[in-house]
Amino acid sequence: MEAAYEEEKPNGHHDQAAASPLFGEPAHALALAEGERMSLMTDFAVTKHFSRNELKCKCGCDRMEIPQPFLDKLEDLRNAFDKPMIITSGYRCPRHNADVSETGDAGPHTVGAVDIAVSGADAHKLLQLAFLVGFTGVGIKQKGPFAARFIHLDDMPPTTHPRPRVWTY
Ligand SMILES: [Zn+2]
Repeated sequence: MEAAYEEEKPNGHHDQAAASPLFGEPAHALALAEGERMSLMTDFAVTKHFSRNELKCKCGCDRMEIPQPFLDKLEDLRNAFDKPMIITSGYRCPRHNADVSETGDAGPHTVGAVDIAVSGADAHKLLQLAFLVGFTGVGIKQKGPFAARFIHLDDMPPTTHPRPRVWTY
């Protein structure tokens, strides 16, 4: 598996992670606007393939509190999938979740969940692997415009949420 990582070509989506302070300051850093510079300073890789910025709350609060075991499971899935996974929604602070989801201020995204933009054959492959890796909450949006299709994954404990479950949007 390690050899495969070495040969993997960087892609646009993950250049952001490669440009994080952990991997050295990019040459164009001084040309960045203040907000972008701040974003780089608080960004770092949380797994080999995912950066904090990809997974943080989108309301502007800058919180990213997904527990490491979930991130490790997501990385396992990424390695099995073996191509970029575009996260359209990762961690949400309770207030933001209440704004955008009918799950209110305590939905899976306030703990550990991701929505991944995927459709077609890739959606079939991702689903198959997600079950194997052990995600127990699987939400499927595969109708409407292809660009808006996604798969939600979480592993909420059955003590707080009905799991395992599959649902559609
Ligand atoms: Zn927030």
